[in-house]
Amino acid sequence: TAVDLAVPTTPLRRPTRQLMLGGVGVGSRHPVSVQSMTTTVTADAQATLQQIAELTAAGCDIVRVACPSRDDAEALAEIAQKSKIPVIADIHFQPRYVFAAIEAGCAGVRVNPGNIKEFDDKIKEIAQAAKEAGTPIRIGVNAGSLDPRILRKFGKATPEALAESALREAELFAEHDFHDFKISVKHHDPMVMIRAYELLAAQCDYPLHLGVTEAGPAFQGTVKSSVAFGALLRQGIGDTIRVSLSAPPVEEVKVGIQILQSLGLRPRRLEIVSCPSCGRAQVDVYKLAEEVSAGLEGLPVPLRVAVMGCVVNGPGEAREADLGVASGNGKGQIFVRGEVVKTVPESKIVETLIEEALRLAEEMGVD
Ligand code: SF4
Repeated sequence: TAVDLAVPTTPLRRPTRQLMLGGVGVGSRHPVSVQSMTTTVTADAQATLQQIAELTAAGCDIVRVACPSRDDAEALAEIAQKSKIPVIADIHFQPRYVFAAIEAGCAGVRVNPGNIKEFDDKIKEIAQAAKEAGTPIRIGVNAGSLDPRILRKFGKATPEALAESALREAELFAEHDFHDFKISVKHHDPMVMIRAYELLAAQCDYPLHLGVTEAGPAFQGTVKSSVAFGALLRQGIGDTIRVSLSAPPVEEVKVGIQILQSLGLRPRRLEIVSCPSCGRAQVDVYKLAEEVSAGLEGLPVPLRVAVMGCVVNGPGEAREADLGVASGNGKGQIFVRGEVVKTVPESKIVETLIEEALRLAEEMGVD
């Protein structure tokens, strides 16, 4: 089949209802936001706020905190008040903590209908309390804790089962005239997850929170989430994302931001374009790329920096970038905006690139 040239390079968003989590909008009229979840004991408000500050500095838009006990629920008010980004309380099993979180001023509450036994009976009360306080809810369906009735019907957590479970709960909220929610249907298998979200997107206009649950350690989780989110966001499906990794939450945020930047859904910041190296390389490209990345980490400018191992593709790529190096013969040709500005010995490549990047950042008005 021919490539459809009409498909835009930046994905269009599926039109959705909008909701506000504190100051962050979620829905098709707002940028796709990045979420993560703290790993501290929520009852330890100081430690939790410290981790939230680290996540905020990394670019996290919305943070979720677990709330498994009364002590945790009691810490919510302080955390919600002092956090610079919206805080969502994550509630499983105990509906009374939903009310506590709303009362504490959390920007949102996540509920998992599958593991709150009396959930259907409580929906009216939850909808009322959330509506009065203006607190959005996330209906977070998980393959691992699917409603037993749905599980009996489908036999296992199929995409249809996940979507039906979420839509059923959504309908119950809607019956009580509450529409201020988003939905997630997470599964550890990206293919099941992708299909579940596609089914959901076709049947409702609620904003969707994307996640591959239990995605695994950093490498595997990054690949699974990138594949799944890429497939969905490219179709315009997804309004907020959480990359789940068995790794520190700041890593989740970095991966999430990178996914959105790769899809053109978030303005690019610093980007290192480095070659994979090959038999022609005349310099240790891995080491060079790592040292340049480390030296420029956190520089808040949209610079594209090319690190190339030889003179075959090196000058071409380096010329295309804002800043670049093409290495060879123990030297590095330094390019700035397409022009060779100097040639330095190999040992000086990293420091010269960093110097030039800082100079460009200053020109762009960033110290
Ligand atoms: Fe190989 Fe040179 Fe290409 Fe790097 S730039 S992959 S060293 S040919």
